[in-house]
Amino acid sequence: MSAWSRFAQGALDFLLPGACVLCRRAHASHSTPDGIVCGTCMARLVPLALPLCMRCGHPRLSLTVPLPAARPTRGPVALASEQELMPCRWCARLSPEIRAVRSVCRMDDGSGGELVHALKYQGWHAVAVPMARRMARLDWPTDVLEERAAVVPMPLSEQRLRERGYNQAGELARALAPLWRVPLRSNVLVRARHTQSQVRLTPSQRASNVSGAFTVPDSRRAMLRGQHVVLVDDVITTAATLNAAAQALLEGGARIISCVTFGRAPDTGDRTVPDDDSLRN
Ligand SMILES: [Zn+2]
Ligand SMILES: [Zn+2]
Repeated sequence: MSAWSRFAQGALDFLLPGACVLCRRAHASHSTPDGIVCGTCMARLVPLALPLCMRCGHPRLSLTVPLPAARPTRGPVALASEQELMPCRWCARLSPEIRAVRSVCRMDDGSGGELVHALKYQGWHAVAVPMARRMARLDWPTDVLEERAAVVPMPLSEQRLRERGYNQAGELARALAPLWRVPLRSNVLVRARHTQSQVRLTPSQRASNVSGAFTVPDSRRAMLRGQHVVLVDDVITTAATLNAAAQALLEGGARIISCVTFGRAPDTGDRTVPDDDSLRN
């Protein structure tokens, strides 16, 4: 080891924890690229069950579930195409201008929830780096890959920013933008007002809680004009926050919005295991 790399390793050991922030097991030196979460804990992330909806990224219901008995059947051909076109119930929640949403993992199983908790409530903002690396590997429709022109973090209210000291979505966006080679625009979307925590609210309460909560300051509209913008957040739950933020970006001049999050909250009736039929096809 050169004198320089010894110095660099010493500086890293000083700045980073000597143990994994999730399982607390001591790191073997150089065991992880970031020196913050061990490989075993990253391997405990549980992906969403395939197949995923091409638009909203949520697990599709099985393509082979029988149609409701009340529906008229019109022969085997009509039945097959109807099954393929069964609408995605999660997509129905998204504003029409939202092109695609993708998330790395489930929040109700594996280490996804622990990582978000470490990032958000335990002050480990450096865990954003391995989280963003996973986000950078997600698959997108070709048009999103070709068009995405700005990475925008979901903003925190001034009050919450003061309490936490940093915006967890901002940390994820800052780590993700260079991996995608897309410019980071941290200051285009701002909170117009403080909102209540969404945690204990029903879906309709969530929508009204965040309605009009975001805005794009006039001086920053030129940065968004005509662009396909990708919003970044730690977790997506009901899409209420995403819809409200997307609305503000569109009013601020953006043309189309996609969204990437690290975790995705479970929804009633979600499949949690892959659909065998979709894997065979
Ligand atoms: Zn660990
Ligand atoms: Zn969908």
